Amino acid sequence: TISLAVIDKLGHIAVGTSTNGATFKIPGRVGDGPIAGSSAYADTDVGACGATGDGDIMMRFLPCYQVIESMRLGIEPKLAAQDAIARIARKYPDFVGAIFAVNKNGVHAGACHGWTFQYSVRSPDMADVVVYTVAPVMPAG
Ligand code: ASP
Repeated sequence: TISLAVIDKLGHIAVGTSTNGATFKIPGRVGDGPIAGSSAYADTDVGACGATGDGDIMMRFLPCYQVIESMRLGIEPKLAAQDAIARIARKYPDFVGAIFAVNKNGVHAGACHGWTFQYSVRSPDMADVVVYTVAPVMPAG
């Protein structure tokens, strides 16, 4: 899966996602890619979020919508992302997945469970892409 978010010079925010689908998926499976709020969500007033992982589980939680609504309340991207992943992991301890979050100011973070996740960032003031590595979230109770 490739999920990406863009903030243009006017501050418009967009997000998109593609997916290769789940391994052993059943024929006709829709997956989480086209479900708004599951593998991607953006609001120009707030920021953007993208996801990858077990879409059949993630689509029950709409983690990207959750992240945007948390950030709308003023929660920093890192905590918003960790909270969204922890909500899933509490119910599905074997869940494997990850999300990135970026707010409208360009502050970004990632969170994951069941694997180590990497995401890339590039902005006009950076000379090159920077790859960030995120340690898995441990669900709190
Ligand atoms: N989320 C995708 C799916 O379940 C898979 C992936 O992210 O690699 O279809």
